[in-house]
Amino acid sequence: MEMELTLLAKDVYACLQPERGLGWSNSGFVARGGGLVVDTFWDLPRTRAMLDLYAGVHPAAPRRLVNTHHNGDHCWGNQLLEGAEIIGHRLCAEAMQKDIAPELLQQMARMEPLLEGMEHFAKALRDYDFTGVRITPPSTLFEQRFDIDLDGVAAEVLYVGPAHTIGDSIVHLPESHVVFGGDVMWNHCTPLGWEGSYARWFEALDRIIALKPEVVVPGHGPLTDVDGVREVRAYFEYVLAESRRFYEQEVSEIDAARRIDLGPYADWTEPERLIFNVRRAYREFRGEPFDVPLDAIALLREATGLAAYFQARRES
Ligand SMILES: [Zn+2]
Repeated sequence: MEMELTLLAKDVYACLQPERGLGWSNSGFVARGGGLVVDTFWDLPRTRAMLDLYAGVHPAAPRRLVNTHHNGDHCWGNQLLEGAEIIGHRLCAEAMQKDIAPELLQQMARMEPLLEGMEHFAKALRDYDFTGVRITPPSTLFEQRFDIDLDGVAAEVLYVGPAHTIGDSIVHLPESHVVFGGDVMWNHCTPLGWEGSYARWFEALDRIIALKPEVVVPGHGPLTDVDGVREVRAYFEYVLAESRRFYEQEVSEIDAARRIDLGPYADWTEPERLIFNVRRAYREFRGEPFDVPLDAIALLREATGLAAYFQARRES
């Protein structure tokens, strides 16, 4: 299993997966106060491998787990932390129970032929084995913040949603100057928004910057710092401004996504996630609520089409 345990500060670790697109997320660990895990992985084999790495620096089973949000690649391994207190925002816990069933994703990955227009997504799912996943949501819920005392060292769980999702939280370790950003932070891979707003995402990123961390662990991609946070902010500022320009010219969302020149961001993995961010911008311009129900399948189909378009353009 490709993953790497990295020491960030005294007793503070990240378990990093190489960025390969869909679901290659990161996790964190504080080997103190009984052990605190930040996020599990998308399936049980990966989460088991991650917990084995943590056991190498903290043999006792971790006492606590924080989920930064409800997407499966951050919480579908939760059940393996038997007996641990699972902490998350109230809306994160609610959303986790309403998410797509693991069995359905497993079926989608193994369908022959693959679902039309979803081939890319379905093939990416084949990296995972969702067998036996039992959705295990947080039971210690909070609203604005949750403070943990790890034998005299503070861990602050701060609600910053709805940015990437409705229940986004970050974990701040003030003594170690480390922030686990969950999926409000991405590094050299394209961020995408589900339910949430641009305004709240900007606030979330500004909040991380204001904490003055030395290390920021993104939900996806390699370790970074406040400069990486500023880059994500700049990406969203640019996409929002470009979306506005095309919206005012009455260009459709998909045409806008084709015409936005991604410049330096074109090298980030999965640039086609742009369509999620353009659609979110248009929803906001139309004055629709941040949590208007999304058609995830339609969005993924569009992203697949956009990826093919980008590819053809590169080759021509
Ligand atoms: Zn994620």
